Amino acid sequence: MASRIMKSFVAAALAAFVGAAGAQDYPTKPIVMVVPFAAGGPTDIVGRTVADGMSKALKRQVIIDNTVGAGGTIGANKVAKAKPDGYTILLHHIGMATAPALYRNLAFNPLTDFEYIGEVADVPMTVLGKKNLPPDNFKDFVAYLKANKGKMTYGNAGIGAASHLCGLLLMSALETDVQTVAYKGTGPAMTDLLGGQIDFLCDQTTNTTGYITAKSVKVYGITSAKRVSSLPDVPTLQEQGLKGFEVVVWQGMYAPKGTPKAITDKLTAALRSAIDQQAFKDSMTKLGASPVGHDKASAEGLRNHLKAEIDRWTPIIKKAGVYAD
Ligand code: ASP
Repeated sequence: MASRIMKSFVAAALAAFVGAAGAQDYPTKPIVMVVPFAAGGPTDIVGRTVADGMSKALKRQVIIDNTVGAGGTIGANKVAKAKPDGYTILLHHIGMATAPALYRNLAFNPLTDFEYIGEVADVPMTVLGKKNLPPDNFKDFVAYLKANKGKMTYGNAGIGAASHLCGLLLMSALETDVQTVAYKGTGPAMTDLLGGQIDFLCDQTTNTTGYITAKSVKVYGITSAKRVSSLPDVPTLQEQGLKGFEVVVWQGMYAPKGTPKAITDKLTAALRSAIDQQAFKDSMTKLGASPVGHDKASAEGLRNHLKAEIDRWTPIIKKAGVYAD
C-alpha cells in the first residue's frame, strides 16, 4: 500500500516536473489555432489577424486549422478533446455561450472542458440583402419579409453560429419566418449572397464592411446599440424600431482543460501583445470590430464573460424552443 502511494506520488511529481520544464521552453514548435468556421469568414479573419501578432510575440508560428461544421461545435469539441500541451488552442465566438442551450447532446462543456486564455475583440453584425433584393431600407425589408413569409432564403453558419442567433432573434422580433440555408461559415454564405443564390444574411462586420462599402450588397442595419465609425451611415436596428435588439459577437481564446497555467499565461501574454499592436487595432477598427482591453484579455475576464453570456442567452433560446441533437 505504502509503496503504491509512493509510486503515484513519484509519478505525479514527475508529471509536474515535466510539465513545468515543458512550460519553461514553450513553445518549441508551431501552435495550431482551431477556427471552427470556414476560411475567409469573419471568425477566420479575426483568427488569422490575431495569430499573426501572437506568432511574433511567441517567436513560433501560430497556424490556423479551419475545423468546420455544426455551428462551430465540431471545432470546439476537437480542442476540448486535444492534448492539453499548449499546441492546440481554439478561437471561438458567442457560440460557446449559446451552444449549451441549443444542443441537447453537446459533446463538451464550455465551463468545465477548457482553460481560458482571454477575449480578443467585440464585433457587431449587419443585416444584408442581395444586391437586387427589392427593399432599399429596413422598413421596406420588414414589409417584404412579411409579405413573403416562409419563402425568403436566409444563409447562416449552422445552429450555434452567430448568424443563426441573429436570424433567430430577428424572426422572433418581426414575428415572421424564412427558409434557412446552413453553410460551414459565413464566408461561403457571403459568396452565395453576392451570387444571388440566397436572399439575405446577418453577419459580422469583419466580413461585411468591404461589401457594404463597395455597394455589392444592400445593408438594412447594424446589430450593436450604437453605430460603428467604419460604417457611419448604417443605422442600428434599435434606431429603426427594434427596441432592445442587440447582438455583439465576442471572440474568445481557449485551451483544453489541463493545459498548464504557465503555458496559458504565456498564451495570454502573447494575445495581449497581439491586440496591443497598432496594426491589429487598425485592421479591426477598419472592419467595425473593437479589440478588448487587458481586463477582458485574461483567463478570468473570458471565463466571467462566458458565464454571464450563458446565463443571458439560455432563457432566450429555451423560450424560442430551438434546439439540435
Ligand atoms: N459569422 C459566422 C457565424 O455566423 C461564423 C464564421 O463564418 O466566421 O457565426
